[in-house]
Amino acid sequence: MANPLYDKLFGRHAGKETAFLHLLTGEVVTHAEFVAMAARFANAFAALGVKAGDRLAVQVEKSPQALAAYAACVQSGIIFLPLNTAYTASEVAYFVENSGAALLICDPEKRDGLMPVARFANALLETLGPDGAGSLDERAREQPDHFDTVPRAGDDLAALLYTSGTTGRSKGAMLTQTNLLSNAQTLVDVWRFDKDDVLLHALPIFHTHGLFVATNITLLAGGAMIFVPKFDVDVMIDQLPQATSMMGVPTFYTRLLDDPRFTRALVDHMRLFISGSAPLLAETHAQFETRTGHRILERYGMTETNMNTSNPYDGVRRAGTVGLPLPGVELKITEPSTGRILPRGEIGQIEVRGPNVFKGYWHMPEKTREELRDDGFFITGDLGLIDDMGYVQIVGRNKDLIISGGYNIYPKEIEVLLDDQPGVLESAVVGVPHPDFGETVVGFVVAEKSGAPDLGQITTAVGDKLARFKHPRKLIVLDELPRNTMGKVQKNLLRQDYADLFS
Ligand code: ATP
Ligand code: MG
Repeated sequence: MANPLYDKLFGRHAGKETAFLHLLTGEVVTHAEFVAMAARFANAFAALGVKAGDRLAVQVEKSPQALAAYAACVQSGIIFLPLNTAYTASEVAYFVENSGAALLICDPEKRDGLMPVARFANALLETLGPDGAGSLDERAREQPDHFDTVPRAGDDLAALLYTSGTTGRSKGAMLTQTNLLSNAQTLVDVWRFDKDDVLLHALPIFHTHGLFVATNITLLAGGAMIFVPKFDVDVMIDQLPQATSMMGVPTFYTRLLDDPRFTRALVDHMRLFISGSAPLLAETHAQFETRTGHRILERYGMTETNMNTSNPYDGVRRAGTVGLPLPGVELKITEPSTGRILPRGEIGQIEVRGPNVFKGYWHMPEKTREELRDDGFFITGDLGLIDDMGYVQIVGRNKDLIISGGYNIYPKEIEVLLDDQPGVLESAVVGVPHPDFGETVVGFVVAEKSGAPDLGQITTAVGDKLARFKHPRKLIVLDELPRNTMGKVQKNLLRQDYADLFS
């Protein structure tokens, strides 16, 4: 028996002297070196007694070694559980206990703080620093750079990835070998990745975007990555000339556009810019095209499913849409109360089915039953529609829908108008409790650098364009919107903080 994910992503690169990771120090990690490093880690895990089916949690800075820990887990059949580096010790405690991790790997600097966490959860603790040094390296150094790959079936778990926690407590999504491999294969095809690609990788590797979308695709295609620790405009401007493609969250694009050095000449040679994880404003899409001549390709996915839809490589990449369902992915829009499929153009809940869809939430059978139907469709929690060209448009999350006086109000419709007003950088619209209407609309705006927005004028402008029941009852200027560590706006916090506005 084989180990399909390991064989396709890593194993077949063994011994190849081709570049896999270009580091900012000028060093290059070849495919051969990377595969050998992963094997040493796999041997070290085995020596520690961590075995196939166990969970291995890592909270470490981005580095080639951190990525090799992922490869080592795949080779050993260990379930990889990466954690956001911003999580505090008490947050890490939840993940380690919830997952029953056998081993926690952390930054040497966090060791003292996490020791009690590991002890309480009966997990081993090893360290791995940003430069690769630490107790794991010490153990692995002695190990042979060959490891007998543990056989796995497509249905075996490869990773336990916790959701970003934008709408509530993070849930552990159980992802199988097939989930990851099928999606990577599809994306290599539709985005035309090959061995000559050099992906500028500035995303974190504890999230599905940077770990699976970016890394798995590059490995499957046999290409290379410029592996930078984190997004930094100066570094990006420096490195873009050496890259063929880039993947980013929308803020990467707005920050690049804010810099005058980001010009058409700088990126003329690039093949592809991809955006996802959060909505890309149509305005950003347009500005990017004006500046560079490139149209950003926006796609849509989530921890539980990897990628579901993508704008086309060759066809029209339409701003404000997340494109078409990927080959092999079925997508339908349904009425929340009945599950009935809605006619084209109508807003409903987005459901998806395909080999990419996860196996369920770790130790949450009820939540799994609520969101994963018996027939395999997963209720994503996002609301959207399929437009007349077959493209999917996301209007927001089900939990953010406002119901006021019996009417459904989609925050995005109001946010788009607010964003357009002079002096407004960005906005968020939420529903808060109201004695007469059940809920009512509150708009939060962040001022542009150049000046403060005129709230009276905005009220008039929005009032002219929207039905009365959609008018924000109150507009509030904030210095910034509350965001989680993935940069996603946390509307639940706004709802909490302003719950008493009308009571
Ligand atoms: P939680 O499930 O814990 O509340 P989360 O849903 O933010 O957190 P992720 O799995 O990281 O956790 O994010 C997936 C979500 O990100 C999707 O359900 C969707 O709401 C949003 N998203 C991803 N890509 C896009 C996109 N291109 N446009 C709009 N939203 C997107
Ligand atoms: Mg989610």
